[in-house]
Amino acid sequence: MHNKVLLIYTGGTIGMVQDENGALHPFELERIFEAVPQLKHTTYQIDSCQLKEIIDSSNMNPKVWAEIADIIEREYEKYDGFVVLHGTDTMAYTASALSFMLENVGKPVVLTGSQLPVGMLRSDGRENIICALEIASGQHQVVPEVCIFFEQHLYRGNRSTKVSSENFDAFYSYNYPPLVTAGINIRYKKQHIMPMPDEPMRVRTRMDEHIAVLKLFPGITPQVVQAVLHAEGLKGVIIETYGSGNAPTEQWFLLALQEAAMRGILLIDVTQCKAGGVKLKQYAVSCDLDRIGVISGGDITTEAAVTKLMYLLGNYGDDPQKVKELFEMPLRGEMNL
Ligand code: ASP
Repeated sequence: MHNKVLLIYTGGTIGMVQDENGALHPFELERIFEAVPQLKHTTYQIDSCQLKEIIDSSNMNPKVWAEIADIIEREYEKYDGFVVLHGTDTMAYTASALSFMLENVGKPVVLTGSQLPVGMLRSDGRENIICALEIASGQHQVVPEVCIFFEQHLYRGNRSTKVSSENFDAFYSYNYPPLVTAGINIRYKKQHIMPMPDEPMRVRTRMDEHIAVLKLFPGITPQVVQAVLHAEGLKGVIIETYGSGNAPTEQWFLLALQEAAMRGILLIDVTQCKAGGVKLKQYAVSCDLDRIGVISGGDITTEAAVTKLMYLLGNYGDDPQKVKELFEMPLRGEMNL
């Protein structure tokens, strides 16, 4: 009996074609099978499906995340693993969102895409699809996680970031090592891969979008900070701070945060640095944030912080203390304590 993989096509460059003006548009799934004839000769079975609407991933949103999660839930028992073909632009957000939505996932869910359409001669798409499928088939080893495969590496999805709009190795995980490296051999780094969950998978697709990301920069004005903190319906803000979680100590800034915290808005501190994380109170300039009750995001990526906050507010929104507690602990390997 062959292992079975479900290929879920969402869009992205991998399946795009150029229009008469040279702009790239998403195209149908069939193109991909035509461009990668090797897919007919695999030692595992591939079935495929596509989203209701094929999109450039710049149009990704929580409804589409739910659509993908629902497909995986519906087909979970029938397949050994899943490959999600996705545009690279927001792939790290989708991988992070799915990692939270799919609690206790016990099968590989591998997102991949490409920098050049798979129909082009020099496309990186063929290798990415073939490796992603092979890993998702679970025929060598099962990786029970939501991951991103790109170029040579399988990364934990909620640790990944798109780092290049130009190079074929477009993704990187700064704070966690790759789970698999694909060279001549596919090498699984067992010590970095999540253990098999004891509980059955459970899918929760509710996300609350009433959040914002506030990126600090020298010279940021009170008007900009206030505009964000007073956005209608706002429930939580990811503040992208400097270095190990540092922020200005100017009175107007601290008062604005304090007032927002008093209105029940959750404030999360993540660093603008690519590697490393937040260490509140390491410097005097982060002591006030700690006093105001700002939550440390540790070494989480912004992509994972955004989706984790949406997920926690969507599922525990009526209990802000619980949201705070859960945010501070790793739920899917997205942060180190
Ligand atoms: N704009 C494309 C997308 O994210 C880029 C890509 O797939 O590489 O859908």
